[in-house]
Amino acid sequence: MPLKDGKAYRESLQPLKMNVYAFGEKIENVAEHPLFQPHINAAALTYELAHDPLTEDLVTATSHLTGLKISRFTHIHQSTDDLIKKVKMLRLIAGRTGSCFQRCVGWDAMNATYSVTYEMDQELGTGYFQRFRNFLQYIQENDLMLAGAMTDPKGDRGLSPAKQVDPDMFVRVVAKNEAGIVIRGAKVHQTGIINSHEMLIMPTMAMAEEDVDYAVCCALPTNAPGVIHIFGRQTNDERRLGGGDIDQGNARYGTVGGEALTVLNDVFVPWERVFMCGEYQYAGLLVERFASYHRQNYGGCKAGVSDIIIGATTAMAEYNGVAKASHVRDKVVEMVHLTETLYCGSIACSCEGAVTPSGAFFVNPLLANTVKQNVTRFIYEIARLSHDVSGGCIATLPSEQDLRHDEVGKYVEKYFKGVDGVPTEERMRMARLVENMTGGTALVESMHGAGSPQAQRVMILRQANLGHKVKLAKELAGIKERDSKK
Ligand code: SF4
Ligand code: FE
Repeated sequence: MPLKDGKAYRESLQPLKMNVYAFGEKIENVAEHPLFQPHINAAALTYELAHDPLTEDLVTATSHLTGLKISRFTHIHQSTDDLIKKVKMLRLIAGRTGSCFQRCVGWDAMNATYSVTYEMDQELGTGYFQRFRNFLQYIQENDLMLAGAMTDPKGDRGLSPAKQVDPDMFVRVVAKNEAGIVIRGAKVHQTGIINSHEMLIMPTMAMAEEDVDYAVCCALPTNAPGVIHIFGRQTNDERRLGGGDIDQGNARYGTVGGEALTVLNDVFVPWERVFMCGEYQYAGLLVERFASYHRQNYGGCKAGVSDIIIGATTAMAEYNGVAKASHVRDKVVEMVHLTETLYCGSIACSCEGAVTPSGAFFVNPLLANTVKQNVTRFIYEIARLSHDVSGGCIATLPSEQDLRHDEVGKYVEKYFKGVDGVPTEERMRMARLVENMTGGTALVESMHGAGSPQAQRVMILRQANLGHKVKLAKELAGIKERDSKK
């Protein structure tokens, strides 16, 4: 099957007829509903760019399974060059969408599952790797969008899965037979899931023997019987439901990825789609691999998003007549510096990647976690500087309907004008874009997407090799190692 283009991707969503709820209603046609169009448009662009001669080298790859040309979003990284191309591609696409295009979560899930099932089979004698390769080939050949499903509701965060009062707070296996397994629970914050074809379920954290039923990794269609998606709200999402496009800020691509609560009500999964079932010893490794791959991304996609914020902020400064003020230029320089620092980290963790026993390449996890930790701070600072330079109108502008109103439109036009030569509508459009890209949901996504800051700090400490650093210091200070046996 050839690589899908944007149109073929949209058409492929039509027959899915997923069980989706939003604003208290069951959505009959997700593919056509205005609430989801920005998310579908952003994902569709990942399909479009595979056919553009200018972007094809970054957005496609050669399958190591079949030798065929595939979307890079379904590729298993075969070199550090692949890891670097990933980051460059994410920056490129985010620089066009200004929002999340969602497809990286499932991609990272595939890469993590690929290398971990290989290592699990080597140690435990299980047969998951070949099964996973078969599933991967199906995804590649049909150019499907896969949602990565890791985050469980977690209930009381101080208790392990097996100790929760409600046993469904983590996805678990509730039945097994010769045909497959039955899973129950839910996954939260599921990016892009209502416009994905398949989902890959993974455990959400390291597990102990008592959590054996919770150590499950498997794939299922997003429309499988027993699956319900409840769509999450976003800042200003109701602006999509009428009233013109200016107030949406980014009407074409939205703000973030379109997240949902996905409920798994006793869902059957055949064995050929089960890639971990009870091997609790490998749950932690799978989580770490996935998280590091996904944290690698954030200096790519957030740099692309920040490129647009910097552009919008610079334009606002021009429209306000302050672009030449030295403090404004300095603030823009600071935004560029922060953005490029994020990008440096993502490129570095890719260059310092290494091969795993499966042959797939993995990023340097210390550097990848450092990138994401920086994102939790720098994006807020970039947004703060953008608000500072752009001005208070980003929070107080009247609506597009008022601009177009027969009686009061002339006042909006007159009193929201900046420098001569720039129509008020253009200043309003740019201000709305800044509002959209630097506000609530977008910022929280930078904080908690790919894991909360503390999750990165735990991994940074684990990877930091403090013992080696102490040894270096002792050597230089002339302190001899003591024999620990005495
Ligand atoms: Fe991809 Fe970035 Fe969206 Fe994550 S937040 S899915 S890395 S675009
Ligand atoms: Fe994300």
